[in-house]
Amino acid sequence: MKKSINNLESKLQALLRSQHSHYTQGKVANYIPALEEVKPDLVAVSVATLDGKNVGVGDYQHPFSIQSISKVFGLVMAMNRMGDSLWQRVRMEPSGQPFNSIIQLEWEKGIPRNPVINAGALLISDVLTSHFSASKLAFVCFLRNLAQDENIHVDNEVYQSELAHGNRNAALAYLMKSFGNIEAEISDVLAHYFTQCSVAMSCEQLAQSLLFLANKGLDPISNQRVCSPKDAHRINAILSTSGMYDQSGEFAFTVGLPAKSGVGGGVIAIVPNYGVICTWSPPLNSFGNSVVGMNLIAGIAQELGLSIYH
Ligand code: GLU
Repeated sequence: MKKSINNLESKLQALLRSQHSHYTQGKVANYIPALEEVKPDLVAVSVATLDGKNVGVGDYQHPFSIQSISKVFGLVMAMNRMGDSLWQRVRMEPSGQPFNSIIQLEWEKGIPRNPVINAGALLISDVLTSHFSASKLAFVCFLRNLAQDENIHVDNEVYQSELAHGNRNAALAYLMKSFGNIEAEISDVLAHYFTQCSVAMSCEQLAQSLLFLANKGLDPISNQRVCSPKDAHRINAILSTSGMYDQSGEFAFTVGLPAKSGVGGGVIAIVPNYGVICTWSPPLNSFGNSVVGMNLIAGIAQELGLSIYH
């Protein structure tokens, strides 16, 4: 890997400029009204490295709805609480289906294919709801601690919008409960899940918060152990195979980094032993991935010679 950080800021600026004609290519998520209101031409990149640098360009301090990126944090918390028994309730296989698909759940008797599709994230939300006395607060505090920023909060407008349009997620949770794979009340599970999806964070904060996954579970800034090296490895493996929805194979093929995207337009990519890239641009392609965000991560990975498969 080349990984030269020389002139990183100007390299990121140039990449951002190269994307100018792409902002109109995707469509801002409209499954809940609160997300549809976000301006499509906001764009940001941050690159945080293990030595404590965090270089950002564009709207990199602008908070946005982290949505599915929250699944990474929830998974860490659940793995820490449950240990290996978690993997009896959720698998680690790519789904090959859209993120909110219900069809496999029926075939697989209420066991989600992996923790980063919606069914899996709802299962994780059940674990957190059942194992923390105040799981929503614990989740937000976990993020505040990782980002070292007490201002991180839940966007209540997004939360209310999710709640009002959450029938499909409710259906997933009820189906799992019918198979005995959900312990808590469905309303509590959904409240936790929508809360974590509705957290607002910036690229700068997300990149910093996930550094532990590039550093075998140890946060290099605070020196706190966030998870074991084995679990950091497992999470990166899941993100490599399933983090970019039903485009994960293509992303591994063309870029080669563990990554997670969210329908708020954010994408995070983990570069083991180096750092974290976070991009944000709201218009999404048909898979639910940010068009410009994917282009930017591909460009940075190419420019710096980053891939776990090199
Ligand atoms: N809150 C969204 C949902 O559950 C998250 C989806 C996503 O970002 O993939 O539908």
